[in-house]
Amino acid sequence: MRRKLAAGNWKMNGTGKSLAEVVEISKDYMTSNIDILICPPATLIERMARTAVDSAVAVGGQDCHAKPSGAHTGDISAEMLTDAGATHVILGHSERRADHGETDADVRAKTQAALAAGLVAVVCVGETEAQRDAGDTLAVVGAQLAGSLPDAGVTGGTVVVAYEPVWAIGTGRVPTLDQIAEVHDFLRTELVKRFGDAGERIRLLYGGSVKPDNAAEIFATSNVDGALVGGASLKATDFSAIIAAL
Ligand code: 13P
Repeated sequence: MRRKLAAGNWKMNGTGKSLAEVVEISKDYMTSNIDILICPPATLIERMARTAVDSAVAVGGQDCHAKPSGAHTGDISAEMLTDAGATHVILGHSERRADHGETDADVRAKTQAALAAGLVAVVCVGETEAQRDAGDTLAVVGAQLAGSLPDAGVTGGTVVVAYEPVWAIGTGRVPTLDQIAEVHDFLRTELVKRFGDAGERIRLLYGGSVKPDNAAEIFATSNVDGALVGGASLKATDFSAIIAAL
């Protein structure tokens, strides 16, 4: 019922040379029964969108401002992302929450802006290691989910939720499959409680040290509809292997 989604988050990596990786992926996936998304740095969005044209690869931003335009040096609006050829945007990634002090209210405002511009919002939640050790994981991700999603416009076609435990990002450490299932089942229940049928259709991605050798078992886990991949999305062979495991 929910289409699978393999999403790559390049973070602050990649220059024009890296477009060769996208050429490879695009060639392999001209058509696909799963959705493929790559979110490069903003400087590459337009070139990547042109490179991936007519392939199954969609292109997304990694953040957007909550306002449509104005005096916000260095920021990019949702409309600018669509203008550059993006169809998606990652919002509320833990690195932005940590590095830029983004709150749930900020993420919610950005999500509203993204939806208004016609972008699919990939909204991230996830606990720190200290929060997990304190037994607060579900309370933390539940509060982030509630605070980061707006009341209006949230459907299976407009919003994707990514669960990324902060301690699993870039560390090679992955939660157990039971831990992933516990959080994904909880997020599903919360989404259905709040959004009804739409909550059943919103895709839930797992993110944090997804690699070719652990992707298949993670994808087979309850309520996991795909992955948000960091490091392993930078190399076409690794990302292709992860896509193939979906
Ligand atoms: P890694 O796959 O490098 O752990 O990063 C995950 C992530 O933060 C994706 O948004």
